[in-house]
Amino acid sequence: MALTKITKAELTKRIKHHLNFTLDDVTDNQNKEAYWKATSLAINDIVVEKLQATKARQQSANARSVNYLSLEYLMGRMLSNNLHNLGVYEAAEAAVRDLGHELSDLCEQGADLALGNGGLGRLAACFLDSLATLDYAATGYGIHYQHGLFKQSFKDCRQVEEPDMWREFGNPWEVCRPDAAQTIALYGHVKHETQADGTVKSIWEPKTHCKGVPWDIPIVGYNSATVNVLRLWEGTATEAFDWDHFSDGNYIHALKDNVRAETVSKVLYPKDEHEAGKELRFIQQYFFCACSLKDIIARHERSQGIDWSAFTDSTAIQLNDTHPTIAIVELMRILLDEYDMAWDESWAICQKVFSYTNHTLLPEALEKWSVRLFEKVLPRHLEIVYRINEDFLNNEVNEKWPHDFQMRRKLSLIEEGHERMVRMAHLCVVSAHKVNGVAEIHSKLVKQDLFPEFDALWPEKLTNVTNGITPRRWLKACNPKLSKLLDKHVNEDWAKDLNNLSQLVALADTPKFQKEFMAIKRENKVELAKEIEQLTGVVVSPDAIFDVQIKRLHEYKRQHLNFLHILALYSRLLENPNLVMQPRVFIFGAKAAPGYHLAKEIIFAINKVAEKINSDQRIQGKLKVVFLPNYRISLAEKIIPGADVSEQISTAGKEASGTGNMKLALNGAVTIGTLDGANIEIAEEVGNENIFIFGNTVEEVKAIKAQGYNPYHFYETNAELKKILDWLDSDFFTPGQPYQLSAIKHSLLDGGDPYLVLADFQSYSDAHQALDIAYRDQSRWARMAILNTACMGKFNSDRSIQDYVENIWHLAPCAEK
Ligand SMILES: *Cc1c(COP(=O)(O)O)cnc(C)c1O
Repeated sequence: MALTKITKAELTKRIKHHLNFTLDDVTDNQNKEAYWKATSLAINDIVVEKLQATKARQQSANARSVNYLSLEYLMGRMLSNNLHNLGVYEAAEAAVRDLGHELSDLCEQGADLALGNGGLGRLAACFLDSLATLDYAATGYGIHYQHGLFKQSFKDCRQVEEPDMWREFGNPWEVCRPDAAQTIALYGHVKHETQADGTVKSIWEPKTHCKGVPWDIPIVGYNSATVNVLRLWEGTATEAFDWDHFSDGNYIHALKDNVRAETVSKVLYPKDEHEAGKELRFIQQYFFCACSLKDIIARHERSQGIDWSAFTDSTAIQLNDTHPTIAIVELMRILLDEYDMAWDESWAICQKVFSYTNHTLLPEALEKWSVRLFEKVLPRHLEIVYRINEDFLNNEVNEKWPHDFQMRRKLSLIEEGHERMVRMAHLCVVSAHKVNGVAEIHSKLVKQDLFPEFDALWPEKLTNVTNGITPRRWLKACNPKLSKLLDKHVNEDWAKDLNNLSQLVALADTPKFQKEFMAIKRENKVELAKEIEQLTGVVVSPDAIFDVQIKRLHEYKRQHLNFLHILALYSRLLENPNLVMQPRVFIFGAKAAPGYHLAKEIIFAINKVAEKINSDQRIQGKLKVVFLPNYRISLAEKIIPGADVSEQISTAGKEASGTGNMKLALNGAVTIGTLDGANIEIAEEVGNENIFIFGNTVEEVKAIKAQGYNPYHFYETNAELKKILDWLDSDFFTPGQPYQLSAIKHSLLDGGDPYLVLADFQSYSDAHQALDIAYRDQSRWARMAILNTACMGKFNSDRSIQDYVENIWHLAPCAEK
């Protein structure tokens, strides 16, 4: 495959053109932002050309395509990634240098596209990269939020949220397509009309409409022929409309200034792994699903006419979690009401088209919508849900478990209770032809614990696709020094086939290679230390172990377990300042959902303890703690190359996969983790001697819970644990103000410690001690770090996509002839 060939001279000319004509009055050569934008626009010209060629090729090949429906996309910045994927990074570097700038500086300009919360949104972004890289026809659909995930800062150690203003200075990559706008209906009621043949037809008479205007962002494949599109819908009014139907608290409420139809795409809900049940959220889901389906159908009709038998050949639709579930019901409505298709035929089409990815087993994250809300916003859709449910219970369920009322109640799409609820995951499982979990253990638990009856009904339906990450962003672009070393020692293009990194296994014991590898790690740590000082004012030594926990703040992810261990180390150092240990820097990055009280208390506690530890002369700099504000993709790209240790310490059974674990290991960080999510598969790949596994397993966690877990047992029998928990009630970290950090202790004792922090504490502490010893043996550590990088081939998102293609989507690549 030929890379897009563009010379330095041609690029320089194009950048100058955009400086002079698109951006008008740029005379200030120091204006990095203008140079970033002009460079982006120059590259975008190439991208758009390629995009048009891709569209033409996919159309003429009648290529079957996948439509990825996701409420979240965590894209990050685009310039550096697009340059690498086009293979023009070096040419651009030279061109920009001629104009008096460093390309790496320009790549730091521009806001992150943070239209997502965490792992789920980043997965969608990695998958789009891989789909284009492997030359599959694919469209991502989502919402063009005016405000993405909030910006985080700390004031007096507490999290403060501010709205994200990602488009304040424009986004050079996106283009608005008003010609492809769609109008969707909301509210109203359903009229029933008896037809001439005696059948009854439902006619939805909506109360209002809302228009969706798409913004297209090109998705550039790496060293491939393909540029696909991410199409994000923005809400605009079609008429005056009373949006006071819904209300929401605090953060969302504060942003609700312009109460109009634009509200639908105003703001991303900032809760990760939690559903709020708010009306606006429900409307967001329907809005983007309905617009996307109209768009998918229009595309199909343009190429094949209204031929529904061909629709299932041309179209696969993947639901990223249950957030887009309503798309299933909407397609049923379109087929039944707008195309007058029979029920069975419509149902067969839906089943062939849709597949669903489950991302969580946490009960608070499993979506349910009240029947009342459903009926108010989408009355016709509720009728269709009832009919799907009736057919399912009367046929499949009744045949397998005749007259079993308990089973009907358990499997019903409607949960009975004081408020009747529609169970979105049940709707997905009943409707989709495939349901996948995101790591082996997670998919096993989906089968065994979450949906055992569905698995008994349809043994082939529930399956696994282990998550992955794109090695382009998460190694090639973010860690140029390590990338160059790999280029030197790995024969084939590792960024295309990450399995090629296994060639490093043979070098893992070579002193010369170990030295080179660790020298790069150290250079990256020097860079990271500078960043840490800039962001927090704390000076850290690159000779310390850089121990990293970066992910959303959540009790199940157990940042507070890490926190307790830091207190234990501090306590040991105060008791024995001569304690032999490698100096350690604990680095945190995490946003807490604005309404998640305990998560915010954990941030506060870590910041408070950090203040005290970082200024304590007695411990001779052996311990530092930093909480970097505003964790996001672009910050992750700076932290990960400089990490020695990757903290993946969720309660076993709670983290579906994790992808941060993969990014860190790929960059040579050694994992300390539980046997949870993809950690298990990482351990299999790197070998048990190259990872620090601790804590109760899924089975053990179940047994502990079944026996009746008593956290006080650990408090009373572990003297160190008792000491550090009691510290939290004192004013040791908050002089004159005791009990400021007590919320954590309270949740771990009286609160019942739902995530078994205390049960895993000692094992975690022991694993850290083993890690400290391993690190002090430089050659042993180098070997471990190298083998982590060398063994990450499986976690390339290209492999994940290939799994989806073979088992679920059945696409053929559409590349240049
Ligand atoms: C990868 C990533 C995540 C997911 O991290 P986990 O450790 O898997 O939870 C979240 N946020 C950002 C910015 C990421 O890059």
